[in-house]
Amino acid sequence: MALLNLLILFIVPLISGSIDSFDNNFVQPSIAEQQMFKNLLEEFLKLDIDREDLSSILSTFEKPRIVTFPCDTEDVNNLVVNVVETRHAGFTVPEDHAGGVIVGGTYSWQCKITTSSKGIITMDCDNTLKLNPDVINPNEKKDPRSQEVDNLVIIYHELLHGQLMLNAISSSQEWRNDVCNKTPSDKIDYSYSDKQHIIIDPIQEEFARQLVSKKGGVFFLEEISPTETQNGEFTKKITSRFEHIQLANLGIKVTYRGINTNELTVTFPQDDITISGNLKDKTKSGRVWLYAFPETATKTSNLIQIPSWIKNNAAWWSEGKITDSDFLNGIEFLIQKGILKIQGVENNSQSSQEIPTWIRNNAQWWSSGLISDEDFLSGIKYLIEVGIISYP
Ligand SMILES: [Zn+2]
Repeated sequence: MALLNLLILFIVPLISGSIDSFDNNFVQPSIAEQQMFKNLLEEFLKLDIDREDLSSILSTFEKPRIVTFPCDTEDVNNLVVNVVETRHAGFTVPEDHAGGVIVGGTYSWQCKITTSSKGIITMDCDNTLKLNPDVINPNEKKDPRSQEVDNLVIIYHELLHGQLMLNAISSSQEWRNDVCNKTPSDKIDYSYSDKQHIIIDPIQEEFARQLVSKKGGVFFLEEISPTETQNGEFTKKITSRFEHIQLANLGIKVTYRGINTNELTVTFPQDDITISGNLKDKTKSGRVWLYAFPETATKTSNLIQIPSWIKNNAAWWSEGKITDSDFLNGIEFLIQKGILKIQGVENNSQSSQEIPTWIRNNAQWWSSGLISDEDFLSGIKYLIEVGIISYP
């Protein structure tokens, strides 16, 4: 009986190949980890993005997936029974993981191989998927759009390590022939799970590209070949912001990570996006993922401090408990304090019109927090500037 074990890792921010590791001890995930996994999976499943069919691997979280197939008469075995279950396990740092490398998640194939006297070879796989909470919910917050993209890529990546192997079990004649001729001491071929990321890399890159674009940004994948470097060091223009309408007007937030790279930095000389760093292994190409998102207009930058009595006034006024002029006293206060800036209007003395009813509604919504300070004030500002209401 042999216990075969294969761990596949997603490394953030440095992806350095995959790591094999023995990992026989199931660790119960904490409540927080369970919640994290549940939320991420839910979010992943509701994405409206083209992706590989993951229904087989997803079903293994619910119940064992059993596939049996007969062997040829000349084969060592008569029948193969493959049973696969996947459990979400608590995250543990893989024992042999290289120093400084951060692992985003793992999908681990752990199959017990047994044979019976009747020539039945059974592969009983008790697999685990792990997600690193320090990567999924880091203390150091990055742009939430980049974080979401990274997290969704991690779960997709790990599920693919499971799904691709299941695809081979279901339909690769070559793999099936191989297993039909194994004894329990032989190693099963798990290369279909793609621990070298030959299939997964382009799939997850296309997925990331679509995700980033859906969230209003642009995804760049830059390959840096050793010939473009000077003894491993490189500086490379990725793009000009003016080539992308999403990036042309506002500030840009950039998140990046590299494979086979060190000391990556991004700079913005003259509206270009430039990446520099050096290759870890100078004989091999490096790859850099870069997401650029337009800066969101931050409302917090011009934070408005409105005294609470003015909000109370607005509530009472909307209910008819205080007069228009009581309410307008509050507005005048805001103007005096420079919180509400009125332009181009001298104090309009001929206040004749009634205050429109919708302003009362606005005042009520504002006082109960349904609309923002800015929304409310911009309404008032408009009415003063066009002379519909005047302040005393
Ligand atoms: Zn991987």
